[in-house]
Formats: sequence, C-alpha cells, structure tokens
Amino acid sequence: MSSVATTTSDPVVDGAVQVDGTVQQEEPHHMEQIVERAAEELADASADDILRWATNTFGERICVTSSMTDAVIIHMASAVAPGIDVVFLDTGYHFAETIGTRDAVSAVYPVNLISITPSRTVAEQDAELGPRLYGRNPDLCCYLRKVEPLERALSRYDAWITGVRRDETVERRDARVVEWDARREMVKVNPIAGWSAKQVDDYIADNSILVNPLVYDGYPSIGCATCTRQVAPGENPRSGRWAGTGKTECGIHL
Ligand code: SF4
Repeated sequence: MSSVATTTSDPVVDGAVQVDGTVQQEEPHHMEQIVERAAEELADASADDILRWATNTFGERICVTSSMTDAVIIHMASAVAPGIDVVFLDTGYHFAETIGTRDAVSAVYPVNLISITPSRTVAEQDAELGPRLYGRNPDLCCYLRKVEPLERALSRYDAWITGVRRDETVERRDARVVEWDARREMVKVNPIAGWSAKQVDDYIADNSILVNPLVYDGYPSIGCATCTRQVAPGENPRSGRWAGTGKTECGIHL
C-alpha cells in the first residue's frame, strides 16, 4: 500500500489519516475500516456517487477493468474522472469484435486504455502445456491468461472498478458496491452491483453507449471465443460461458 493524495471532503473518508488535506493509506486493516464505512454509506447511492467517492479517494491509483462487452462502466467512470486507466486482458483468444470494441472505446472515451497480455503467447502455452488447454484444464488456462496477468496489472493500484452485478451469477449475489479484496489487499468497487440487466440495457439506450456487436448476435456475456457460445433468448445470459463444463467464473472475481 502506498500513499494516495486526494482532495476529497467526502464524509465517508473523513476517518482516514489526514495529512495536509490528503488521505494517507497505510495498513490493509485501516483500508478495511474505510471500506466497511463506505460500503454501508454508499449501499444505496447512485453509481455516479460511488464512482465519485472512489476516484476522489484513490486518485490515480484506481483503474477500471473491462471485458469489452459494453462500455457502461467506462462511460460513467470517464465522465467522473477523465483519463482514468482502463485495463483490458488481451488473452489471445478474443473475438475480433471484442478487440474492435476495445479499440473503439479507446478512440471514443477519454480513458487511458491499457491492454495486458499473459506471460506466454498462445503458441508458447501450446508448446509448453499442449494445445487447447482451455478444453482440458480451463481453470489453469484462465489462471495463466486472466488471473495472473490481472494480478500483475493491479499491483500498481490501490483500488479497481468493475461492472460486477449481483444478479449475474450465484457467486456474485453478495457483491457489495465497495468491498475489501482480501486476496489482493486492495479495494474493489462495484458501482452497478445492484443493477438489473434491464437497467443496464436502459442505460445503454439512453446514453448511446458503445456495445460489443456480438451482444446483438446472441452473446450477452462475452469472454474468450474458445469458451463462449451463443445463448437462446430467455436463457441465462452467462450460460454461454464455459458451457457444459460446470465452470461459471474465470477466477478474477472469486
Ligand atoms: S476463457 Fe477459456 S480460453 Fe480464455 S483464459 Fe479462460 S479457459 Fe482460457
């Protein structure tokens, strides 16, 4: 943990150690206390207010992570904090449409887009561990191509912003708008944790948000091309991810 300068006067963070008007973040347990207060006080706040608190509190040591399914969170965060870092995991297995959406996001929104790549190329992974690891051991493949690269990317931040929603999966049903990410010893901010899919759709329509074109072709939740299939109308939107394997999460949000 390092020092984070912020000029906020948000009452949520008034309990933080104040040094000449800055918030000094020291030990993880101290951050946990800030998170607990914020989670309670912001539980029913608007996504904008949650983002304002987060970006005021963490300054440049916060980023957005995005799978490039849509740019809802990116639009909101970049309106509150223009120039904010947006981290994208370029696994090497993405649909061309996802890479195109990433490039469009970078061109349209005032963000600093950061593409993170795994330590091995797909060819190197195939040579070392055999081809199509995603079919034989998707947990290891996700670890190598998503979890580990994200850990590396997040190590330079004190907080990260996600588009996680409680109604997406069983594993996400207890997600709070502000959480202590104990594994990474950092703060996780989920501004739309309480939103429904309809709220997301309405926000996209009302604000002309960039959306991955695959969404309109039966892919409401988009991961690697190798592990994402189309879903039928009315099916669980995430049922197209790792279909038939029992796997529902890549490990990033666990
Ligand atoms: S989603 Fe599939 S291809 Fe992508 S990292 Fe995970 S297992 Fe590998």
